[in-house]
Amino acid sequence: MGKLNTIYDAAIIGGGLGGLTLAIQLAKKGKSVLLFEKESYPFHKVCGEYISNESVDFLESCGIPLKALNLPQINELGISAPNGMYIKHPLGLGGFGISRYTLDALLKEQALLYGVNFYEECKVYTCSFHQNKFALETSKGLFTSYYCFGAYGKKSNMDVHMQRKFVQEKKRGKQNYIAVKYHISIDFAPNLIELHNFKDGYCGISKVDDNRYCLCYLSNEKNLKDHGGNIKTMEQELLYKNPHLKKIFTQANFLYPQPLTISQIRFEPKTQIENHVVMLGDAAGLITPLCGNGMSMAMRASKMLAHLFPSNSEDIQAREDFEKRYQKQWQETFATRLTIGRIFQTLFGSERITYWVLRCIKPFPKLLTQLIRLTHGKPF
Ligand SMILES: Cc1cc2nc3c(=O)[nH]c(=O)nc-3n(C[C@H](O)[C@H](O)[C@H](O)COP(=O)(O)OP(=O)(O)OC[C@H]3O[C@@H](n4cnc5c(N)ncnc54)[C@H](O)[C@@H]3O)c2cc1C
Repeated sequence: MGKLNTIYDAAIIGGGLGGLTLAIQLAKKGKSVLLFEKESYPFHKVCGEYISNESVDFLESCGIPLKALNLPQINELGISAPNGMYIKHPLGLGGFGISRYTLDALLKEQALLYGVNFYEECKVYTCSFHQNKFALETSKGLFTSYYCFGAYGKKSNMDVHMQRKFVQEKKRGKQNYIAVKYHISIDFAPNLIELHNFKDGYCGISKVDDNRYCLCYLSNEKNLKDHGGNIKTMEQELLYKNPHLKKIFTQANFLYPQPLTISQIRFEPKTQIENHVVMLGDAAGLITPLCGNGMSMAMRASKMLAHLFPSNSEDIQAREDFEKRYQKQWQETFATRLTIGRIFQTLFGSERITYWVLRCIKPFPKLLTQLIRLTHGKPF
């Protein structure tokens, strides 16, 4: 099925927010773009589904009519310690809620409108760089492009194929994370996002489209192993110790037959370029969900790339310059946020530390405002 004689300007591996928005912008610039997504739209994804308002203008520019969609606007944050101690705070810039099921499918429609060559249910197996071109081997045949972008998320066969350093390093159960997501219906303030901590994990809840709520948590793998690998048992014996979580889990009406889960999530630093494959989104660096901002980071990186993309894809010199400038901009824009995310994750990882952090912050609301600001960017 691959068109062997066509050399595309760009091939994008992964149709999440980073890949879809990059495809739209490059196609708008008149580039020939291939996009490969192994799943079929619409589909659910493990994600908290809260998007910072920094991305509103950008998403509108990609053709998503956010205002017309009348999405829940979220402007308050509630945080609790594992023992239930709770603080509430305004969210500053704030955000909105939309399910990935809805958003990714809307972006896919836009990508098709702009003429992106879209291959759904198409997994990329290998990509190799030779004589200024990439050859991609996929489940739908072979393709060739001048540029190749890795927008394949936090964990993919592509990381193994490229022998990325973080894949080689074995991590023990405490540094590997699992995530679980549900859509629920519940009586809960539509403008509020809550983050409830439990031992070695935290769980977020906020409203999305279609009058549902997203309930999503992250925990280390050890917690699950300690509960016999059974999610329900772990929830009842661990998450329910936080009275806020017990209330939510016991009052909610769960809308999926099964939870959506992912495992082996890790937050160590990654490289942004691997043998000329240019990474964006989670493939370039995964921010801890505690900072609630990975989606905006993926989209912001796509904007950087579309802006820097060379006018002539065949120009060998331009590639070097493009790679250097992207790496520099990426580090300048995201490195601090990622480090802060990692620090927050350690602070919120322990039962006792979480309690004391919240107790110390409570009398200083301005400090909390500053901390929230550090994890978010300016509108782009
Ligand atoms: C528990 C949790 C909660 C989170 N909550 C939030 C939140 O509330 N707000 C927020 O902003 N961020 C949140 N994030 C982060 C956010 O989900 C990610 O940062 C964001 O989805 C990154 O987008 P992406 O485009 O890089 O990857 P993704 O959206 O993951 O897309 C990658 C795509 O690549 C495809 N793919 C992978 N390998 C291949 C292959 N070989 N061939 C073809 N396709 C492939 C996958 O199927 C997938 O669709 C959360 C993350 C976690 C783990």
